[in-house]
Amino acid sequence: MQIQKKPSWLKKRLPSGPEYGKIATLISDSRLHTVCQEAKCPNVWECFSCKTATFLIMGPRCTRNCRFCAVAQGPPSPPDPEEPLRVAEAAEQMGLRYVVITSVTRDDLPDGGAGMFAETVAAVREKIPDALVELLIPDFQGDAAALRTVMNACPDVLNHNIETVHRLYSSVRPQAAYHRSLELLRRLKTYCPEIPAKSGLMIGLGETREEIRETLKDISEAGCSILTLGQYLQPSKEHLPVERFVPPEEFEEWRQIALDMGFLQAASGPFVRSSYHAKELYRLRNQEE
Ligand code: SF4
Repeated sequence: MQIQKKPSWLKKRLPSGPEYGKIATLISDSRLHTVCQEAKCPNVWECFSCKTATFLIMGPRCTRNCRFCAVAQGPPSPPDPEEPLRVAEAAEQMGLRYVVITSVTRDDLPDGGAGMFAETVAAVREKIPDALVELLIPDFQGDAAALRTVMNACPDVLNHNIETVHRLYSSVRPQAAYHRSLELLRRLKTYCPEIPAKSGLMIGLGETREEIRETLKDISEAGCSILTLGQYLQPSKEHLPVERFVPPEEFEEWRQIALDMGFLQAASGPFVRSSYHAKELYRLRNQEE
C-alpha cells in the first residue's frame, strides 16, 4: 500500500545540520539509542538541533509488534548493565536538565525492564543531581511489582501512553490492552499521587470524535494531569495507513476540550509526540497546580 501524500501543514525539515550531526554522533559513539531515530519521529531535526532527545533503553528491538510503530521488532539483546551510566554521561554531555527516558517493550524480561528504568534514573541523578527525569514506560503486562520498582525510583513525571481508542486496540496494538493501560495509570495515582502522571494518543487512525472524547475522559479520570495528542503518521508501507489528516484547528479544539475536562496541561498538534517539549509542558503544568 502506498503512503499517502501529506498535507501542507505536515511538511517538516529532514534530519541534517551540524547540531543534528553532533547529537547523532554522540548517541552512536555512546552505543545508545533514541526513540527519536528508531521511531522515525518527525521532530528529530528540531529536537536534536535544540540538543534534546529521548533515550530508548534496552533497545533497539521490541518484543511487540504494534502496527503504528517504526521501532524494529525482533529478539532483543540482554540488558547491558553499563547502559544506565552511558545514558547519564550522554545526558550530561548534552547539557540536559530534563531527561526523558523510554524503552522498547521487554516482555521477555521477568520484570519487563523495570529494574533498568530504576537504575537509569539513579545513574542520571548521580551524574546530574539537579536534573528532572521523565519516564515513558510500557505496560509491564500489568505487573504491579514492576510498576512499584519504577515508582520507587521517584521520577519527576511518569508517562504511559494509551496510544489509541479502545475499539482500535486489536488492530493497532494487538499485544496490548486498553483497560490494562488505564489500570496502570490509575495505580500510578493511587500509589504515588505526588508524581505527575502523563498520557497521550495519536489520532488519524479511524477513530470517531466520540471515541476520542471517551478516551480523554478515561485518561483524565485515571488521574493524568498532562496530555499529549498528535497526528498518526505511517512510518512505512508495512504499517497502518493514515485514515485522516487532522487539521491544526481541530487539534486546538481538542486541546481546549482536554483542559475543560480537567487536564492541567495539554499539548495537541499535528507534530506533538509524547516527549515533544516535555520540559516546557512539565513547567507549565506545575504553574497550574
Ligand atoms: S518529539 Fe520526542 S521522540 Fe520526537 S524527536 Fe523530539 S524528543 Fe525525540
